[in-house]
Amino acid sequence: MKNWKKNIRQVQPYTPGEQPDRPDIVKLNTNENPYPPSSSVEKALAEMDGSALRLYPDPAASGLVRAIADFYELDPSQVFVGVGSDDVLAMCFLTFFNSQKPVLFPDVTYSFYPVWADLFRIPFETPALDEDFCLRKEDYYRENGGIIFPNPNAPTGIAQPLPQIEEILQHNLDSIVIVDEAYVDFGAPSAIRLLERYENLVVVQTFSKSRSLAGMRIGYAFGSPELIRALNDVKYSFNSYTMNQAAIAAGIACLADALYWRRTLSLITQTREWTKARLSDLGFTVLDSQANFLFVSPPDKNAKDLYEALRERDIYVRYFAGPRTENYLRITIGTPLQMDRLFGALEDWLREGKREGLKKG
Ligand SMILES: *Cc1c(COP(=O)(O)O)cnc(C)c1O
Repeated sequence: MKNWKKNIRQVQPYTPGEQPDRPDIVKLNTNENPYPPSSSVEKALAEMDGSALRLYPDPAASGLVRAIADFYELDPSQVFVGVGSDDVLAMCFLTFFNSQKPVLFPDVTYSFYPVWADLFRIPFETPALDEDFCLRKEDYYRENGGIIFPNPNAPTGIAQPLPQIEEILQHNLDSIVIVDEAYVDFGAPSAIRLLERYENLVVVQTFSKSRSLAGMRIGYAFGSPELIRALNDVKYSFNSYTMNQAAIAAGIACLADALYWRRTLSLITQTREWTKARLSDLGFTVLDSQANFLFVSPPDKNAKDLYEALRERDIYVRYFAGPRTENYLRITIGTPLQMDRLFGALEDWLREGKREGLKKG
């Protein structure tokens, strides 16, 4: 082996969902919003001064930080922004998880957490969710180098009641606790209101899901001014200009149209509820999701077969191999029309399965 090869960092990367760009597919695999972002975003982008692009953006993205702080009635010193919440979360791991003790997160959760932990050489342990995929708060009442979990959790969609999150905080006043609220707008209570009482709490949110701006890459974190300062110091040691001018302008414009945001949120949650009922009628096990996706198990638990059958019909959902998740599919809530196409395919597949069964029996 060539000597220099020994010095190359080998990592096991995160696998994002597929992004096929054919217009005819039903794409329910990456929890994108099925509705376009507010028209105010397109307007703001059209009005951008192209000649200003010769300048570097504001390294602090102050306009966007102020707009987010105003929207959530916080001080700008409590807001950090980044290139999607993936960037914000990576900065949080780098900044806050520097102990020899293990960081704790659930065994079934956002699969990027172990990837960052490995990349930054952070020890971690993964307490198992209970058999109903619920987080057991007591698992987090022990020595640790930090705690992180999404609320609602991914890929289950199950939300943790706020009093339980507060109990985890109370048992961990010496750790930083990060609540990843990528899906919180679809129906879970936000931990934002706990910020004033817990200076060790970090709440991370994103414009990618509820605000329909996955392509723009805007994420943010809330925390005490001391934590936000630490995040910014690490960010400025890594890359000063993370937010480009278009993203800053788009984010500000998007926040200004709260009416549209609430309207699309309500459309998605309504679609989620009837999709849930219809799937149950077909014999699926459906977890109680407060997010813009459902975690479901088909009647005969043959999730991988179903994943492949749907894919052949140009319907993309997400399948996670592994002992705890292999009987389930994660299905993003799309438009009613997209869900109808999904149900057409599901009913065909169930009928075919019955016919096969009859032949064999
Ligand atoms: C989608 C998602 C993110 C990342 O979203 P960004 O597009 O990077 O903002 C973070 N956490 C969870 C749990 C997610 O599902």
